[in-house]
Amino acid sequence: MEVTYLCPHCRGAINADNNIVLSAKTSKNKIGLVLLHEEIGNYSVTLSSSLTVDEGEIADFYCPICHECLNIKKGDSLARYIRLENGVDESFIIISRAYGERITFKVDKNRHIETYGESLSRFIDPEWFL
Ligand SMILES: [Zn+2]
Repeated sequence: MEVTYLCPHCRGAINADNNIVLSAKTSKNKIGLVLLHEEIGNYSVTLSSSLTVDEGEIADFYCPICHECLNIKKGDSLARYIRLENGVDESFIIISRAYGERITFKVDKNRHIETYGESLSRFIDPEWFL
C-alpha cells in the first residue's frame, strides 16, 4: 500500500523514508524536527539535535513546509494531519502532543474512528477532532 501523509493546510507531503517529519516547539522553547514512524501504532520517535523533550512535556507541532500549526485548537494537546492511502482514501490521523503518550486516532471520511495506542489514560472527546 502506498501511503502519503499530507499537511491539512498546504497539502504538501510530510513523509519521507518511512518517517513523518514535523517541526516542533516544546513548552520550554526547544525547537527542532520530530520524525515519527509512518506505520500507525509504531511509536519510535527520532528528534533532531536541537530538540530535547521530557516525558509528558507538551509540544506544538508545525508543518515543515508551510509552517502552519497542526495543533487541534479544541480539546487538549492533540495534533492532526492527513493520511492518503493509494492516492484515494483520505483520513485524518490525530496524535497526542504529550511526549511519550502513545495515542493515535484514525478518522475516515465517514467519521469512523479507529483507536491505536497504549496509554489512553485521559478523557478525549471525539467531538474535538470531528
Ligand atoms: Zn503545510
